[in-house]
Amino acid sequence: MVDYRVGGIFYNDTESMAKRDYYEVLGVSRNASEDEIKKAYRRLAMKHHPDRNPNNKTAEENFKQAKEAYEILSDSQKRAAYDQFGHSATDGMAGAGAAGFEGMGGVNFSDVFGDIFGDIFGARGGGSAAQRGADLQYNLDISLEDAVLGKTMELTIPTLVACQDCHGSGARKGTSLASCEECHGQGQIRMQQGFFSVQQTCPKCRGRGRVITDPCPTCHGRSRQKQNRKLSVKIPKGVDTGDRIRLAGEGEAGEGGAAPGDLYIQMHVRPHALFERHGNNLHCEVPISFVTAALGGELEVPTLTGRVKLKIPPETQSGKVFRLKGLGTPSVRGGGAGDLLCKVAVETPINLSAKQKEMLHEFEKTVLTDKTDHNPQSRSWFDKVKRFFEDMKH
Ligand SMILES: [Zn+2]
Ligand SMILES: [Zn+2]
Repeated sequence: MVDYRVGGIFYNDTESMAKRDYYEVLGVSRNASEDEIKKAYRRLAMKHHPDRNPNNKTAEENFKQAKEAYEILSDSQKRAAYDQFGHSATDGMAGAGAAGFEGMGGVNFSDVFGDIFGDIFGARGGGSAAQRGADLQYNLDISLEDAVLGKTMELTIPTLVACQDCHGSGARKGTSLASCEECHGQGQIRMQQGFFSVQQTCPKCRGRGRVITDPCPTCHGRSRQKQNRKLSVKIPKGVDTGDRIRLAGEGEAGEGGAAPGDLYIQMHVRPHALFERHGNNLHCEVPISFVTAALGGELEVPTLTGRVKLKIPPETQSGKVFRLKGLGTPSVRGGGAGDLLCKVAVETPINLSAKQKEMLHEFEKTVLTDKTDHNPQSRSWFDKVKRFFEDMKH
């Protein structure tokens, strides 16, 4: 059932339809402090306030979005829920802001999702679109190591599952559903509208064709109940922030036994102390002593799976980048792994003793007096400075 769809297709197509990320709306980082959130909100509220921008729809929309984002992110509980589960967890939590969302009012993230994907992927088998369970989004923060090496993770997802007592039918155990009188079990009714006869979903049974006469006491005929579902999810090797994993049928249960929605796992890779990721390459900075830089040597550098030896040739300049082939991250889209790029930074020694300082002075004297070029960058730099001042005179 696991279906990895990674990268752009899902994400970009829905971005404009789905609600904007609250952190993005306020322009703050995901670990912004309460104070930073408050300040960001104040600044946006001042800028986009309707009183200051009369008859400006864009400003009004921005004001509403900022207000809604602030209402969620300024409340630690709501923020935690949002961080974990995204908009699906906090929909309807924000007060006036959410209600004022034109065109989005009452439409939750999952509904928007369902519509779009219903079109792209066609029928989902069984049940009408209205009864199909909602799609869920789970925002997963993972370490760079787990993202690169892959991991099976246990997640707890608050969701709606089919009622255990009535197995999703909504009818009391031992009773059965009756045929709907309104539509004679068809689920559809014909309505006369002027000259036209229009087929509509039956409002009484909502298209099921059957009605509950004796509701299940556990779910009160709603056919579903809330549950924190535990799921084991395999994170494929090489995922990155922005990638999304789709788990077909792992979303909310459908009403009345209809098909469940899908679960989307949205990946957020946490920053790493040593490595920065760019595409499938990993970058790290390695400090080396100026003696090693001058004479050459061997260093141990970290990779995500252990240490490797890196040979530093003599006369290595600060900022030089060494490429370790294939030690970056595997590609989740197939193809070869990226490289590890180690940038050396020559360190200036500190806490020198009098003796050491004396030795360096001695060294400097020899460098200045012999006729050899020991400082290739300085010379070309001084040449440039000289030319610059000469050009200014003209
Ligand atoms: Zn009916
Ligand atoms: Zn039930």
